[in-house]
Amino acid sequence: MLSLDTSLDTFLYTILFYGFIIFIIEPIAEWSIHIFLHIIDNYSHNTHHKHYNENIVTPELWPIIIYIIAVYYNYYYISLGFIKYWCIHTLLHFYPKLFPSLTRHHITHHKYKNYNFAVSAIWPDIIFGTIYTYKPD
Ligand SMILES: [Zn+2]
Ligand SMILES: [Zn+2]
Repeated sequence: MLSLDTSLDTFLYTILFYGFIIFIIEPIAEWSIHIFLHIIDNYSHNTHHKHYNENIVTPELWPIIIYIIAVYYNYYYISLGFIKYWCIHTLLHFYPKLFPSLTRHHITHHKYKNYNFAVSAIWPDIIFGTIYTYKPD
């Protein structure tokens, strides 16, 4: 019985830990890294924006490289975060109907690049005040 309880506890802690990483920490990291890329005028991120405008979006390579490095050094929560970002961002561009509200949120970022920095969630833009709200002028 004791070992069953212990393994159940371990299981629950693991679920809570990864849930916290994936649903709380990762979207905040996504927002922070993305706004940072715009602040430093990052070349490869600008290329993604430019390609989107020319209608030739290709899947990003850099999150895959970080994913592989993180797996190699056993930083599984970091690898999980980057692969989650990569999957959602790629799906939003190639299968836009899958997550309609996230797609709208991200496509708005491609039009108005000072807004909507989070990709796999919308709430970080709401709490950090970067959500795009349509203002007719
Ligand atoms: Zn994009
Ligand atoms: Zn951007």
